[in-house]
Amino acid sequence: MATKVVKNVIAPIQMWLMGQGKCVGCGKDLTKQKKEEHKKGFEKITCSCRRVYIYDTAKKSYRRALLSEV
Ligand SMILES: [Zn+2]
Repeated sequence: MATKVVKNVIAPIQMWLMGQGKCVGCGKDLTKQKKEEHKKGFEKITCSCRRVYIYDTAKKSYRRALLSEV
């Protein structure tokens, strides 16, 4: 039960960090990290802490990359 509570607290913080364009792991500015073409309308961002994000250029929002996208 304790782990469920922790997840409920962490998820909104991660969403908030990504909303600010920051890495959820190290808090670095994702606009300054390594950027690659992903597919049309999306960019793959690899943070210096090795977390991978997908940037939606239309929505201007970040999300964590799925394992299949890394
Ligand atoms: Zn990071």
